[in-house]
Amino acid sequence: MDHRSLESLSTRVIHGGTSPLVEGAPVVPPPVQSATFVGGGPDGDPELLYTRYGNNPTQMALGARIASLEGMEAGVGLGSGMAAISLSILSLVEAGDHIVSSRFLYGATLAFMEHELPRRGVSVSWVDPWEEGSWQAALQERTRLLYLESPVNPTLRIVDLRPVVEVARGRGIPVVMDATFASPVNLRPGAWGVDLVIHSATKYLGGHSDLIAGVVAGSQERILAVTRLLHLYGPALDPHTAWLLDRGIRTLDVRMERHNRNALELARWFQGQEEVAHVVHPGLPSHPDHALATELMDGFGGMLAVELKGGAQAADAFCRALRLATVAPSLGGVETLVSLPRLTSHRGMSPDQRVGAGIPDGLVRISAGIEGLQDLTTDFSRALRAVTEANASA
Ligand SMILES: *Cc1c(COP(=O)(O)O)cnc(C)c1O
Repeated sequence: MDHRSLESLSTRVIHGGTSPLVEGAPVVPPPVQSATFVGGGPDGDPELLYTRYGNNPTQMALGARIASLEGMEAGVGLGSGMAAISLSILSLVEAGDHIVSSRFLYGATLAFMEHELPRRGVSVSWVDPWEEGSWQAALQERTRLLYLESPVNPTLRIVDLRPVVEVARGRGIPVVMDATFASPVNLRPGAWGVDLVIHSATKYLGGHSDLIAGVVAGSQERILAVTRLLHLYGPALDPHTAWLLDRGIRTLDVRMERHNRNALELARWFQGQEEVAHVVHPGLPSHPDHALATELMDGFGGMLAVELKGGAQAADAFCRALRLATVAPSLGGVETLVSLPRLTSHRGMSPDQRVGAGIPDGLVRISAGIEGLQDLTTDFSRALRAVTEANASA
């Protein structure tokens, strides 16, 4: 179905990118769990179907769905978020080229840019996206793309896409964005002029913490370039995983509604608690990007962070006392997950560096699931009582 004719994202997650069903067809297309397909003979179609090529029918259906969600021409699924990120970038650069990137990135993306790209002769300049004019100032003659991620982990800062797109347009180069934390429900970067939109589909798109996948959306031509690298590097999305991901996407809109609501309600609830020094959530007026989030996004997202009084020991006591929320890295699943940036995403930094980056050691990151709010606040109340006890005995 032509996604442009579907008004609502609630409809597109279910029907976007599909063809009308014929009599007797399965309402849910089964996964095409085959590595290869009949073809290649003397009288056949010259286009060979092979699952590593990304043209297995289940992979193709997922690509069409992604394109529909993002309101872009084409989409492709890959074996992980990092496969989507690395191949998207590699599809746009060659030796001698240069990238300008926000310095606030997912750890593996940062490592890829710092360590892998230089091995291929590609250099990167880092910008602070909240510093006026920083993108323009970092441009070089061989700058081939601008890269950013928003919202940022775990400060949930939001990058204004408009000046980034303006600078890129001025130079005729693309903007590539990792919008994992937003999900397509809360933000469609393509509508703001971003050229390649990437998600770790392991998170909200899959939504059940049970698969690893990545997706990219963009123009036909740009997605073809990513797909060409998929042939060579090989991180194809297994058809069964593609099918599970497509299944997850069908409930994305209703899940995000609850993720958004639970995170905002939890943020407000934590604000009223004595053991809490500060609550980070773009839906709170105290967040530095609250106005920007309101302007750019349709929802504030399912993530929040809470700074506990008492630093690292308070954060540890909080985690140990949880019974419903689970301490685990990752995010975006139906279950509430809690993690400590000082022990996970930002463990490579010193405590002082972390404070400088807005990530004090008492910070607890929460991926709000879709459970009942009352059960979550009961669990978090217990954890906060443990913080009081730990701080009293310190
Ligand atoms: C998890 C994550 C990734 C990496 O995704 P994988 O599916 O684990 O490869 C990239 N960017 C962001 C923002 C993420 O949260």
